[in-house]
Amino acid sequence: MSSFATVQVPDAQGHFGPYGGRYVPETLMHPLQELEAEYARSQQDPEFRREFEYYLKEFCGRPTPLYFAERLTRELGGAKIYLKREDLLHTGAHKINNCIGQILLARRMGKTRIIAETGAGQHGVATATVAAMFGFKCVVYMGAVDCERQALNVIRMKMLGAEVVAVKAGQQTLKEAINEAMRDWVTNIRSTHYILGTAYGSHPYPLMVRNFPRVIGDEARRQILEKEKRLPDLLLACVGGGSNAIGLFYPFLQDEAVRMTGVEAGGEGIIAGKHAARFQGGSLGVLQGTRSYLLQDEFGQVQLTHSISAGLDYAAVGPEHAWLRDQNRVSYTYATDTQALDAFQKLARLEGIIPALESSHAIAEAIRVAPGMDKSQIIIVNLSGRGDKDVAQVASNPQFAANTSFRP
Ligand SMILES: *Cc1c(COP(=O)(O)O)cnc(C)c1O
Repeated sequence: MSSFATVQVPDAQGHFGPYGGRYVPETLMHPLQELEAEYARSQQDPEFRREFEYYLKEFCGRPTPLYFAERLTRELGGAKIYLKREDLLHTGAHKINNCIGQILLARRMGKTRIIAETGAGQHGVATATVAAMFGFKCVVYMGAVDCERQALNVIRMKMLGAEVVAVKAGQQTLKEAINEAMRDWVTNIRSTHYILGTAYGSHPYPLMVRNFPRVIGDEARRQILEKEKRLPDLLLACVGGGSNAIGLFYPFLQDEAVRMTGVEAGGEGIIAGKHAARFQGGSLGVLQGTRSYLLQDEFGQVQLTHSISAGLDYAAVGPEHAWLRDQNRVSYTYATDTQALDAFQKLARLEGIIPALESSHAIAEAIRVAPGMDKSQIIIVNLSGRGDKDVAQVASNPQFAANTSFRP
């Protein structure tokens, strides 16, 4: 594991080993270079750091607690489980960490208009929020299917003054929303900054959307050392594009004894078209500006994906995750819809916390592995968001009424 002390990723062109890079039409090269340069400058500027930290604290509510889930721990009878409470942030998920960073960059670049894509709507809400707070025009692209299953978030975005464009192409979910956002960006480059919502896309996005959310792991590391006087044994996080996971994992990568597992969406099981677990049956490909693991057929056509959680329902995974998997530094597994729903209910009833369906995938893995671990061991689960947006969907799921796997 010495490679983590010596290899700097990404390299200057945004490569994480064979992954990452910049696969875009000529017209997007310039804005990406402009963004890269401004990001690099901002990282040298203590004033940027100060502003970033100010808004995270005063507007978003950082630091978030690292909460000992005592009843869940007792119920499972193994490792101690701590929850990193990103669900308590303003707007209800970790996404706002990245949005604050990017809106500050947009302001420095003199942009006046913000665009974003969104799947579950959490990133759209976070973007609409920072755009309102800083006085930017805001347009959010969202698949028409996602607009329907996350209607509450569509209303929230509109209330915050954003225009929401329902994208009706293709599968009408996140991939198509990103295509539309990129089309808009090409057309309105001078005025517009594109706030991409995850650790994906062309360089420098995967780098930036690791370094803004890494505040999650930086805090968690400090907090666990304070509470337990030692590092955790295992970190768990769900992986859509990969921002909440890399945000938690990154500051621990050099700690060899800390194991990490990313949890993808297993949907209805690992059958083509029924899941979004890119490391289960995915292969190397290029999608939406970067090279990574991708669910595609033998002709390179992007496969349909399915997950009960819109925020994990995407055909590709962030390039740094692909690289960390190759290095055997992080392992990747999946939880099915059924397991995520079970975890959702268990956390609600045992801890009084209704988690996002995305985060429920990480909880499901904790439920699976904690009983086999020693009581002296420690797991940190990234509770990436709260479940308010998901209550209608869960309530209408037959499993909600029929659940017999849990008795309080
Ligand atoms: C968007 C979202 C995710 C997935 O995105 P990542 O970039 O993989 O973190 C996970 N949890 C919640 C609550 C989300 O809103």
